[in-house]
Amino acid sequence: MKIRLTIKLFLYRFFSTSFGKAILKSLDFGVKVENLGNETSQKNHQFFVVLTVDSESGYVGKDERRIWQRENPTAFIGYSSGIRNLTKIFDKHKVKATFFLSTNCFSSKGKEYDKIKKEIGFAIKNGHEIGLHLHPDSDLAIQKKLSRKFKATSAFFYDYEEKLQIINAAKELVRQHLGNKAAEKLTSFRWGNWALDSDGAKALGKAGFKIDSSATPGIKGHTNDAMKYDWSRVSTHYPWKLNLDNYQAAASGDSGNMEIPIATFEFFGLKLRADPVNSVLLNKACAEYYKNADRSNKPFPFVVITHSSEATYLDGRPTKAVKDLEEFILFAKNYDKVKFVTLQEAYERLS
Ligand SMILES: [Zn+2]
Repeated sequence: MKIRLTIKLFLYRFFSTSFGKAILKSLDFGVKVENLGNETSQKNHQFFVVLTVDSESGYVGKDERRIWQRENPTAFIGYSSGIRNLTKIFDKHKVKATFFLSTNCFSSKGKEYDKIKKEIGFAIKNGHEIGLHLHPDSDLAIQKKLSRKFKATSAFFYDYEEKLQIINAAKELVRQHLGNKAAEKLTSFRWGNWALDSDGAKALGKAGFKIDSSATPGIKGHTNDAMKYDWSRVSTHYPWKLNLDNYQAAASGDSGNMEIPIATFEFFGLKLRADPVNSVLLNKACAEYYKNADRSNKPFPFVVITHSSEATYLDGRPTKAVKDLEEFILFAKNYDKVKFVTLQEAYERLS
């Protein structure tokens, strides 16, 4: 495990240098997206770019290693500076984004709490969307509210009633700390580590959510631990209605909840997400989607994922991932009929 992490870090550091980027770019013909369509697909409608930010504790260490909320739930800099570093870029380029908020931030205190609330308020004021992001095992605010510890991130480890209770507790925390209006506007959702399941989808509907964006078509991971997620049986990249009996049955859903999946792609067979940590490959993936996705009847949403904790070093400075995200925004803006929208806006245009 340690060796794998070291190699991953080495590769990340290498491929985020300008030399590494040039090499990666020369290899980007290896980017492929299955089951999307082809160049003959109609492009009557807009191509939506939906920037989503999983907002949680953590930061990027000096060696580019990621310190996640699970490792250090009180590293609240991931919220305060992480959200600020990102909104700065979004507002500079006049694009709207969706912040999936882990309510763990409401366990912060004093000045830290004030700072975080200010940054979230600023994001809302500037038209960004706030959605909900769940990490039961590292969300100290939910644990305090429900007076119990949780051992797993993944929805697979809880029964329906527990899931509903956790989701409702998180919603209540948003109401308590950000107000009624923010709680009522919560319509988008992403389970931590993409780990939604069928009962989780059911609980979401019950709690009043309309949009889920947990899916990573074709990808599964952590199959033997508490972060288990599995979207390996989903092959479509288009939004679908969630099937509450079988969350991966994308063709047969009829619930009121729409799944708007994260864009995924293959790079020489390696399955990746549309994430700025993949540097120039994100741009190539976007170009592939733009070229091949069908837009004959409605717009196509290209969902990008990043983390607020990956947007800040421990001292609050913006990271390489922020710079790469900014480069991606400039790249995508070059195309015709591209519009940056929040998930809620995408949903309204797609349903
Ligand atoms: Zn997360």
